[in-house]
Amino acid sequence: MKNKTVLFSKALFFCILCLAPVFLAWGIFGHEHINRAAVMALPDPIQPFFYNHVDFMTQESTVPDVRKYTLHDKAENPRHYIDLENFGGIDSLPLTMTDAKARYDEKFLQQNGILPWYILDQMDQLTKAFKEKHKTEILFLAADLGHYIGDAHMPLHTSSNHDGQMTDQKGIHSFFESQLPELFGKDYSYHTPEAHYIADLHKEVWRFIAASHHLKDTLLLADKKLKEKIGTDKVYQKDDKGVQIKNKYNQPIHTLEYSKLYHEMLKGMVEKQLQNAIEMTSSFWYTAWVNAGKPELGDLDPKALTIRSKKALNEEKALWKKGKLFGIESEKEY
Ligand SMILES: [Zn+2]
Repeated sequence: MKNKTVLFSKALFFCILCLAPVFLAWGIFGHEHINRAAVMALPDPIQPFFYNHVDFMTQESTVPDVRKYTLHDKAENPRHYIDLENFGGIDSLPLTMTDAKARYDEKFLQQNGILPWYILDQMDQLTKAFKEKHKTEILFLAADLGHYIGDAHMPLHTSSNHDGQMTDQKGIHSFFESQLPELFGKDYSYHTPEAHYIADLHKEVWRFIAASHHLKDTLLLADKKLKEKIGTDKVYQKDDKGVQIKNKYNQPIHTLEYSKLYHEMLKGMVEKQLQNAIEMTSSFWYTAWVNAGKPELGDLDPKALTIRSKKALNEEKALWKKGKLFGIESEKEY
């Protein structure tokens, strides 16, 4: 079973390398760091099990985007965002997917997204997988859940102006979630508080969705202001003929000067949102396990594997306490 899982994980990873999509939401760099650090933030009773599969959890973090862009799974698309403006006030929104489906038609939800409700649905599935001690499902669902919680912490995933297309700022989505973490992410700290139990999951999901949404005006306004200040000439990289250079996903590449100034203007927003996503991901995993009745996970893997991983876990934990993670060489998008 383990070999099968590893093979499948490698095959998916290969797909990601060959066919990575335009918007990964945090990009490969961000998603991989969120899931790996979330394993490090887990408490003792479940950490050794997750650490036995930490490479799988890391690589699997971008698979929901592969389903969306490469495998063209239509159902996948609306799970990654919510265009909050089109739903009216956040306080009056339905709490569950069932209620959302009763209030809005399918086409509306397909267009405007179901991210918060999908996170809650995935939590139910993960809790069930823990209860049944279904190892493969636990790992797949937990890794997927980390992806969607990560997306929810990317402010533009909560807005209809998701690529600044309504405010003449096209390209900002990928700039914020991929180019900036690739440029500056190696200096971020991925150390967060240890996972905690979340008593009210609905409330918590809407809390971090609202907080994320709150940030989108700040990041859009900062981009507008900076463009005005330094002149549009210095924003994008250009070739000798003055033509904008694009990355492999046809996204404009911002100059290093612009990226540095913009990153400073955001005052740590990218780093903070990644940290928030890490803390929430590990806390949601932990909560699902508690709600499942705290099943013993030690017998899901061969003892020898857990013993072998222990040394690496202790070493990576020490590193993580300094803010760093072991050997993630994320595929570059820029
Ligand atoms: Zn996504």
